[in-house]
Amino acid sequence: MNNAQLNELKNKYVANGAASPATQFADRAENSVIWDVDGNRIIDFAGGIGVLNIGHCHPKVVAAVQAQVANLMHTCQIVIPYAGYVQVAEKLSQLAPVRGHGKVMLVNSGAEALENAVKIARAATGKNNVICFDGGYHGRTLFTMAMNGKVAPYAGDFGTMPGNVFRAPYPVPSLGVSEEEAIRRLHTTLKTDANPRDTAAIVIEPVLGEGGFHPAPASFLKAIRDICDEHGMLMIVDEVQSGFGRTGKMFAIEHSGVQPDLITMAKSMAAGMPISAIVGTDKYMDASGPNSLGGTYSGSPASCAAVLAVLEVFEEENILARSMALGEKLGQRFTQWQEQFASVENVRHLGSMAAFDLVTADHKPDAELTAAMCKLAREKGLILIACGFYGNTLRFLMPVTIEDEVLEEGLAIVEACLAEFAA
Ligand code: PMP
Repeated sequence: MNNAQLNELKNKYVANGAASPATQFADRAENSVIWDVDGNRIIDFAGGIGVLNIGHCHPKVVAAVQAQVANLMHTCQIVIPYAGYVQVAEKLSQLAPVRGHGKVMLVNSGAEALENAVKIARAATGKNNVICFDGGYHGRTLFTMAMNGKVAPYAGDFGTMPGNVFRAPYPVPSLGVSEEEAIRRLHTTLKTDANPRDTAAIVIEPVLGEGGFHPAPASFLKAIRDICDEHGMLMIVDEVQSGFGRTGKMFAIEHSGVQPDLITMAKSMAAGMPISAIVGTDKYMDASGPNSLGGTYSGSPASCAAVLAVLEVFEEENILARSMALGEKLGQRFTQWQEQFASVENVRHLGSMAAFDLVTADHKPDAELTAAMCKLAREKGLILIACGFYGNTLRFLMPVTIEDEVLEEGLAIVEACLAEFAA
């Protein structure tokens, strides 16, 4: 079937809220390029929203998944376990910088990881509240929607959100929130709404993802660690988007030296297979009773095989160093654009988690221009995606393994789009 025929099916059969606005249907992909069903070549600067740090269809991951599904596809690991689950648990425990000895549970999506992190924090502390941040994003299940620090398009149509979620501002000086102010307001939240006596955890993305690719200062993350320790609350770090090499470290929190109690991870940990994990200090992970965590597909054999292959690729192909090098290149190019185009501001990157803002002539967030940039780029054969509290951030999540020529080709398209709108 071609794009036109598939669009007809989409319009007729796919629920409005779940349908992609894109009109090209992906057929196959390799590293940083997708071909659609009509044979068009599209450069991918989104990586399935941060899932493909080692590229589309990495041969090593494909082979591992194929071998696994030929042998064992499913048992439900609480019915009868298999090697992959415990091997992944061992590796993640060794890699994730949580305090003390880390234990692991696996689930299927980022949102599910956050849901379970909150369950674990409640069981471990006997308390109910969580504190999250303005602009934060944690998923689309009911509780994670309540945790998100932005309403549209996530929670607006879905009625009353679960309670016990409180919020504080994330430190983003370009949006008028200094680190000092953010700490002061967090203390205010603890005084006015979220009594520490009733608060189980503070949940923070070490680099705000959907909220605009803003890294939190190390001193802010340390302050949260101290506040959690003072009040017997858990520090939960959401690395669903920032983890698995995006920032040049395995986990973004490593840049700060802070050891959280729990870390949630998903996306690039399995290069496209659905899986997520919570890694946390053993006494917290073991706080809930037998059969209190998990689900039918949690940590499926094929997804576990993918994780183990991904971790080998990280070693063999020096992914962390390449993420740093890619980030440097992006930073340099964006800085050139900032000098060249009045619309480009606030260039930033931590490793290859890189972004800049688009603004109007009077320096206001320009979401319209940002959407138009993404649309024009798509017409020129490049997938470019936006994010940000005001929807005016262009974020870059191309595979860390992108070939130099393809990177250059994609950046040239972004530059051509900027030039076209500047004219
Ligand atoms: N947390 C963060 C930081 C994310 O970026 C996302 C997804 N963008 C999620 C949680 C939710 O992940 P999923 O879409 O797999 O449920």
